[in-house]
Amino acid sequence: MLFRMSLNRLFWLISILLMLLFLVLIGRIVSSEWAVYERSTKSMPAIRNLQLALLAEEKLAAERGPGNSLLLQEPDAAAKEFAGLDQARFASDRALASLRRALQMQAVPQLAPVIAHVASTEQALATMRKEMDLLLALPVRQRDVAAVDAVLQMMARADSGFAPAIVALADVAVRSDPQLSDGLEGALLASSLRNIAGRIGAVFTAPVIAHRPLTSQEIYAFSRLSGEISQLYSGIELQLRPYQDNPVLKAALDAVRDRYLGAGLGFLNELFAIGRSSGDYGLSAREMVVRYVPRMAAIPHLRDLVLAEMLQQARRQNRQAAFFLVAATVLGAVALAIFVLLMQVIRLRVLRPILDATDLFVSLADERFNTVIPMPRHDDEIGVMMRVIHVLKAHSLAKVRLEKQREEMIAQLQTLSDTDFLTGLLNRRAFFAQGEQQFGIAQRYRRQLTLILMDVDHFKTVNDRYGHQAGDQVLRVVADLCRRHHRKVDLLARYGGEEFLLMLPEIDLSQGFAAAEKLRCAIDSCDCQLDGGEIVNVTASFGVVAFECDNDLESLIGRADQALYQAKHSGRNMVVAAPRGKSDETIIFA
Ligand code: GH3
Ligand code: MG
Ligand code: MG
Repeated sequence: MLFRMSLNRLFWLISILLMLLFLVLIGRIVSSEWAVYERSTKSMPAIRNLQLALLAEEKLAAERGPGNSLLLQEPDAAAKEFAGLDQARFASDRALASLRRALQMQAVPQLAPVIAHVASTEQALATMRKEMDLLLALPVRQRDVAAVDAVLQMMARADSGFAPAIVALADVAVRSDPQLSDGLEGALLASSLRNIAGRIGAVFTAPVIAHRPLTSQEIYAFSRLSGEISQLYSGIELQLRPYQDNPVLKAALDAVRDRYLGAGLGFLNELFAIGRSSGDYGLSAREMVVRYVPRMAAIPHLRDLVLAEMLQQARRQNRQAAFFLVAATVLGAVALAIFVLLMQVIRLRVLRPILDATDLFVSLADERFNTVIPMPRHDDEIGVMMRVIHVLKAHSLAKVRLEKQREEMIAQLQTLSDTDFLTGLLNRRAFFAQGEQQFGIAQRYRRQLTLILMDVDHFKTVNDRYGHQAGDQVLRVVADLCRRHHRKVDLLARYGGEEFLLMLPEIDLSQGFAAAEKLRCAIDSCDCQLDGGEIVNVTASFGVVAFECDNDLESLIGRADQALYQAKHSGRNMVVAAPRGKSDETIIFA
């Protein structure tokens, strides 16, 4: 079917198929670039959410330290002021509120459980604070141990209960861009390290305040937590390995190692050694906080730097994705435009000229030369083809003209070869050629046919008296008279010299006889005026014969000649009809 399809249709079919293929390809490239762009667009708020959640968690944990220590101390405004419980509460409220607002603003269904979680944390926190404030208002001895324990448990729940929200947000962030997973994991580990660091410090709060050695439970908790710290640090190092070329992150990681693991944890190890023996720490809880807490700051700093780096990475990726998206769209559109242009060029400069050329060739083959051949517009192969068609048209035109001329010349020659030059009548040769046909018809279909042979009387005398040219003139006058007296279907010829032949198809002997007689009278009564002014009168004798059972035209003419001879012999200027059958009887009119 493809091979039988016209070039034009094939061209459109291929063009449309290629165009569809092209559109599908471009669509695919653009849609995959769009997916990358969309993912990276989503990853930025996801990282910000996680950043806010980790900050809230840090603030929640930070609220535990002052709470813990104040629960072991007498109500004292200065101590409360130093512990910074109100600031810690304010900070955690603010962090939770800004997280909740950020999550609510994004209006993503996925985040709804996290928002609910934040709200329930806020509620639990408020309940715990109310209980704690009631206890803090009482002297230490009046504080019910079970009630203190309950508040501590509530604090721990508010803090650790926040972890699922962080896990959920971290999951959203990693899903939005899996490339960020190492960095995000590192930040989460740093956040855990910050929590553990707080908790390991809190192990010493009660023993330092009470100036007592560590209990076995506290020794166990310290050992377990310090083990967790070194594990977490190794985990952080591992996760941040892809970023080891980043000097800022490397410096922050080193700071955690030197300032926290080295100095901060070293300080706690010293306290631990004392706590295992005497319990004589030689410092107050306040001094312990002042020496230990600032060392922990390197950890959230590292966490924040990692998150900032992730955010920057996401931004870079977003910008890159936007660039690729625009580039793919623009390049796709340009490529499509070039493709359409190319198809147009092929259609206008190749296909259409070929189709036009085909029409032109067909019209030339049909000899329709009025078809306009466009002038070549471009100096290319198609232009050469158009020029060749012009040349072919010129050649074909010349050939057709020559053929026409040749046919006209042949027709002229034919006429010349059939015509007697003096009288313009048929010559003897033409008479035989055409007469044979009529004779054949009469012979085959038994039709009537009459032949008249005429001879001018004493013509030699005319020549002798007036000259040969005058004789010619007389012959022309006689020929004209004959011409006037014959029908279109009759054959009239100059048989030779001053002899004329008339063949009358469908005419019988008596009709032929009458016709001859009429002509004889016309010649007899005609005055031929010569160029010199002289008047010449001539007569003619006629032999008339009808076809009967003659074998050929010659024999018919022969019989007419006999009748003519008879006319001459009988005195000229008369018509003699040849006898029917073998009879020698003739009819003579004079
Ligand atoms: P008859 O009555 O017996 O026919 O006598 P005639 O003189 O006509 O016959 P004849 O045969 O003796 O002479 C015919 C003459 O016709 C002789 C010739 O010179 C002349 N003739 C033949 N052809 C032409 C021609 O083309 N032009 C002229 N001017 N004369 C011709
Ligand atoms: Mg003669
Ligand atoms: Mg004669």
